[in-house]
Amino acid sequence: MDITFYGAAGEVTGSSAVVRHSRGAFMVDCGMFQGGRDADRKNFSALDFDFGTIDFVLLTHAHLDHTGLIPRLVALGYRGPVYATDATADLLTVMLLDSAHIQEKEAEWSNKRNRSRRMRRRDTAPLYTVEQARTSLRALERVHYDENLTPHAAVSCRFRDAGHILGSAIIELDLSDEGVTRRLVFSGDLGQPDRPVLRDPFMPRRADYLCVESTYGNRFHRDLHETESELVHALNDTLGRKGGNVIIPAFAVGRTQEVLFILAKLVRMGQVPRLEVVVDSPMATAVTELTMRHAALWDEETRELAEWMRTAPSQFRLRFVADVEESIALNHSRGGLVIISASGMCDAGRIKYHLRYNLGREECSVIIAGFQAAGTLGRRLVDRARVVTIMGERIAVHAEIYTIGGLSAHADQGALLAWMRHFETPPRQTFIVHGEAEARTAFAQVIEADLGWSGLMQPVAGTTYHLN
Ligand SMILES: [Zn+2]
Repeated sequence: MDITFYGAAGEVTGSSAVVRHSRGAFMVDCGMFQGGRDADRKNFSALDFDFGTIDFVLLTHAHLDHTGLIPRLVALGYRGPVYATDATADLLTVMLLDSAHIQEKEAEWSNKRNRSRRMRRRDTAPLYTVEQARTSLRALERVHYDENLTPHAAVSCRFRDAGHILGSAIIELDLSDEGVTRRLVFSGDLGQPDRPVLRDPFMPRRADYLCVESTYGNRFHRDLHETESELVHALNDTLGRKGGNVIIPAFAVGRTQEVLFILAKLVRMGQVPRLEVVVDSPMATAVTELTMRHAALWDEETRELAEWMRTAPSQFRLRFVADVEESIALNHSRGGLVIISASGMCDAGRIKYHLRYNLGREECSVIIAGFQAAGTLGRRLVDRARVVTIMGERIAVHAEIYTIGGLSAHADQGALLAWMRHFETPPRQTFIVHGEAEARTAFAQVIEADLGWSGLMQPVAGTTYHLN
């Protein structure tokens, strides 16, 4: 048996691995490459290998860098099942269609630009269409956490809660090949313990071969309590003392729901008197509804909190904006609102309008609670730009900008090591994936030094590794 990584090897996107054995092959994750100049080219060529032998696909979670090429895989001829947890399948119905919509728009836009420049280029087709994404959803097979699944005569596996986003899973898999059975564990993306909404990651005890993520393999997160007190200060100062609005750019999947529950918790604890919160992002609204529907996956604290929210609706007023008119109406609001909107890095979507109307007012504030990549509007705000350009208009920044660090959907170095410490014996081989070169190299050194493990691999994309 062997394993080939097709992405997320020395980088954090494009997660996809294929395990081949004497009786077949299977794929774990089928992710898109995101960000960077090469992403488009890499996405178009990512499936240029013989995937015809693949019997089934397993998905760890719904993020597009783990699932975004599923519509393309199916469009190119894959006919087998794609297994995912119930909540992941629900999220994908929203996310893959949204992704396809963006692909179509981008192709349309680039063709229009080529034509207007009279370039003699053939029109580019989108990576996949909405129709193709819809078709690919039919390949999804729903799996429950902790149940035994036998997708092939040689394979049995279980999806364990990874605590990263709703429906996220660690996959524990037993593969019988030529008389021996080996345990493979794929961490997927691992959540940080003790974070809002989700349960803590499951701790596997045994693996012959381990694939572990390393996004923050070289970093430690700030304490959640510190983050909460910073939030309390920002909310009370802006809404109470200054009478302005608080704008929170947030990723629609995961972060919006976390922020909502933290805000509710702060009101419940009496740290903030009362809040009026508006969620203005169709995607965030859809994902929040899904999160509410999957209450069984929440941690204890969140269930209690949801119960309290039902009994105290006047203290924590929550509204989801449906149409564009209602969104535009928010532009006239002078104060008293917390507006959560996407995109998380302020580059697209309705958040741009909210920033346009509130950034110039010193009584307002913006709370940045997520990672902001270089080159984005969000990053310029974090870097304290005095003037920014939004939709062609130059706006002087007078609002207060708070950068709040403690919220991350990924385990930090300490949490990753704690998770690995639960293995009773070191795996024969440990593949360190889903981390930039620097993070995973540093992480490998720490694993060696702190856990004393050997057999550490830093795989290269496209290279096949024998599982010995
Ligand atoms: Zn993820």
